[in-house]
Amino acid sequence: MPDIYDKILSLGKRRGIIYPSYEIYGGKTGFFDYGPLGSLLKHNLEEAWRSLYIIKEGCMEVVTPVVTPFEILKASGHVDKFLDVIFTCQKCSSSFKAPDILNKEVTLPEAGEAIKKGITCPECDGQLTAEEVHLMFETSIGPTKKQPAFLRPETAQGIFIDFYNLYRFFRQKLPFGIVQVGKGFRNEVSPRQGIIRLREFSMAEAEIFFDPSHKDHPRFSQVKHEQLHILPAGKKDIKTSLQEAIKNKIIGNQILAYYLAITQKFIISAGIDAQKIRFRQHASTEMAHYANECWDAEIFTQRFGWIECVGIADRSAHDLQSHMNATDADLTAFHRFDHPHKEKKKLVKVKMDELGPRYKDKAGFIKKQLESMSPPKSGDITVVLDGKSLVIDPSCYDIVEEEVSLEGQHFIPHVIEPSHGIDRILYCILEHNYQEVEKEGEMYTLLSLPYKIAPIPVGVFPLINKDGLPQVAYDIEQSLRQQGFLAFYDDSGSIGRRYARMDEIGTPFCITIDHQTLTDDTVTIRDRDTTQQERIKKANVKAYLDKKFFSSEKRF
Ligand code: AMP
Repeated sequence: MPDIYDKILSLGKRRGIIYPSYEIYGGKTGFFDYGPLGSLLKHNLEEAWRSLYIIKEGCMEVVTPVVTPFEILKASGHVDKFLDVIFTCQKCSSSFKAPDILNKEVTLPEAGEAIKKGITCPECDGQLTAEEVHLMFETSIGPTKKQPAFLRPETAQGIFIDFYNLYRFFRQKLPFGIVQVGKGFRNEVSPRQGIIRLREFSMAEAEIFFDPSHKDHPRFSQVKHEQLHILPAGKKDIKTSLQEAIKNKIIGNQILAYYLAITQKFIISAGIDAQKIRFRQHASTEMAHYANECWDAEIFTQRFGWIECVGIADRSAHDLQSHMNATDADLTAFHRFDHPHKEKKKLVKVKMDELGPRYKDKAGFIKKQLESMSPPKSGDITVVLDGKSLVIDPSCYDIVEEEVSLEGQHFIPHVIEPSHGIDRILYCILEHNYQEVEKEGEMYTLLSLPYKIAPIPVGVFPLINKDGLPQVAYDIEQSLRQQGFLAFYDDSGSIGRRYARMDEIGTPFCITIDHQTLTDDTVTIRDRDTTQQERIKKANVKAYLDKKFFSSEKRF
């Protein structure tokens, strides 16, 4: 019996939604194509995400390259830590991610222990070996003098390394959020979960930069009563409000909690069944190298069980600090005090009557360097002159203690990151909205998609192909398209078949032109979910759809 995954795959292929890539060459696991309707669906989902993060939340979007030079991912820790522990069978050469076999995250020594305890290849019972493998796709820049690079494993790094420009764009004020929607690449080990585990996939990531001394979110009060199904690390799952979760220190801070709430709202409005969502906290052994607290929004699927669809991580100052260490760039923000702080500070005071005669026209330049330094605790002071280090004789300066007025201080912003896997969310939407309905003894498929993400919002049909009905239908279809509704004209097969074909791809409304249209300028409009038909004036079709699409709860 085909399960729902098989049924969605078969629908996906039949109707041009999603299907395996490179099929005529035998296919390649981990790659899927979006067909004509799938591309529309994916586009609509990404647009809904953008409208939440950019319009409602006030973030701004950037686009940065996929090809990422080696040194960036070395600095971020991906080169050394973005690894999977895998088992490889000595007999049949199959490879498996260790957590898939052991049902938990493990280190390399733990995987070795498991082999000693007797685990064998699940396919052929052969002897296994364990190793760590890299998840990034390697590439190089330049055709001849090749510089090592990777395809980005996440879109986030492109944002972190631009922090300085982005901070200026936001007029040097925190908090602010930057989003990026684009491809991420991970060379997954033998992906066996079809659409769920891809090697090239689409991510929608937001990086929210904030001052770590202000971990309250200004709109937390709007979400604090939201109920979440959460599974704290090492504990039993509970239903709790966010307010309680913060009070009981289950979730570390309000900003993180706020993004858990809007993640839940977003996926529900995108068509995910509210009963099939939970937030699972990562155990410290499972957490990515960059995170110090992480929650996965998991969605339940029939074949694969709970799958991670959104990762919401507190990345602290990890990334900005790493890129500062690697480049000397200033990726700090500045906190201006309400009132300047008075502080005692040791300063270098230059004695020009000593420095001047010794260094002549260079003395001014040396003075500037000396007076901008904090004096070392012990030893000589060195400046740079004409590219060379120069030790300055202590007789040329005094070290004095003075009260100075501090306007503010520099600090490294922290980051909360909600990272959405578009393809996984999209598969779950298809699964949760897939219905089989019986009509007149025949089974039909229906996708009850939210209006805003349905690939085709409206179908337009002439009841029969004569008496001038096709022309009227065609004119309505064209006029709707010109006014921004992707309408689809169909005149083939019985009207029942045409409705069924639109239901199968989730089209919310179908307009039919019949003989009455010719006499009184009315059309029928059928609602996908109720199958009820209303008769309305042809001239009111656009207003009717506007109302349904822009003021109904089925939109976002
Ligand atoms: P991560 O950075 O690992 O938290 O991943 C962020 C999101 O990307 C996850 O929540 C998934 O939805 C998605 N994702 C990660 N790896 C894959 C993959 N191999 N195939 C499809 N989606 C993925």
